[in-house]
Amino acid sequence: MADFQSVFGATPTGVWAAPGRVNLIGEHTDYNDGFVLPVALPHAAKATARRRDDGVLRLFSEQGDGEVTELRVDGLAPGSVTGWAAYPAAVVWALREAGHDVGGADFHFDSDVPSGAGLSSSAALECVVATAYRDLYELELTGPELALIAQRAENAFVGVPCGVMDQMASMCCVEGAALFLDTRDLAHRHVPLDLAGQGLRLLVIDTRVKHDLGDGAYAELRAGCERAAELLGLRALRDLPPDRLPQALDRLPAELRPLVRHVVTEDVRVEQAVARLDAGDLAALGPILSAGHASLRDDYRVSCPETDLAVAAAVAAGALGARMTGGGFGGSVLALVEAGTLDHVAAAVTTAFSDAGYAAPRTFAATPAAGARRVG
Ligand code: ADP
Ligand code: MG
Repeated sequence: MADFQSVFGATPTGVWAAPGRVNLIGEHTDYNDGFVLPVALPHAAKATARRRDDGVLRLFSEQGDGEVTELRVDGLAPGSVTGWAAYPAAVVWALREAGHDVGGADFHFDSDVPSGAGLSSSAALECVVATAYRDLYELELTGPELALIAQRAENAFVGVPCGVMDQMASMCCVEGAALFLDTRDLAHRHVPLDLAGQGLRLLVIDTRVKHDLGDGAYAELRAGCERAAELLGLRALRDLPPDRLPQALDRLPAELRPLVRHVVTEDVRVEQAVARLDAGDLAALGPILSAGHASLRDDYRVSCPETDLAVAAAVAAGALGARMTGGGFGGSVLALVEAGTLDHVAAAVTTAFSDAGYAAPRTFAATPAAGARRVG
């Protein structure tokens, strides 16, 4: 392992951290202006950094390519950086695009957020850069403002048409709570999630598979939702009241109906989940999670055999509910379990994977952690 000093031969200014996330419920709703309910993970991207006043940006990651990527901040443009370094470079570009006169920096990254596992390692990397830049360049930017800059970075510079959930979760979550977020106006509220107090745990199952079709499919699904909203004369699918869903479906071509049904019912599930959490009934989340998975599997069609098996095996082993989290086509599954059954459920899923001939999943218990911050 190479530390900042040995890579850059200089003394860093500080250390920052930004977490990955799981999303309790509200999947594929963020780009429809809908509701989401993510929780930050204890797993985070850590950046050790110093400011440079010569306009040079140098990037090194323990999880990268073993090279220092050196760029000039005034030469950054979409398409100019490839590979992992595009994510941090994108944030510096987006800050400058937004009119912030920021210069260079040296960055050493080390992240324990599993990459490509649907746990948002990319937003963690973006948000740790955004947070470090805020401090290094004394920018008066709020968490939501930095999240929007990080999202724009991923959309316009990296070229991934993601919504704003991941960046908002990484920037704005607080320890011990889920983030109830309206992705239209970024209004948000921290909803206490005292799992331990109710004898519960969140089990995360990283299936370790990522199906290639995910990349193009995400953009296609997003385009399908936008087309459906347009046909219905709505600004976004979030504006379709649930009681008008049946009539709306009648007016749409058959291939768009399941997409609309998922988005509208998923927004309702987020509101139901928040109501249950506000009432202190965390166990009631279980059936809402499972209903969300059925909708993603049968209507939105973004699950895959591995995530379906993880959900089914977890529920069969006694989980109160389970669902895939993240964009889909692989990635991770989230199961709500009673504390005493955590190991049993994890083992049952591992056995089911082995019986099916799948590689062993990675399992861990998630405790709701804090959002991006300076840590040293
Ligand atoms: P997810 O966000 O679900 O983990 P993505 O495909 O959106 O999956 O982002 C994963 C990509 O982010 C990786 O392929 C890599 O380019 C980049 N990335 C994430 N974390 C790191 C890291 N610590 N070092 C270098 N690159 C990283
Ligand atoms: Mg990502």
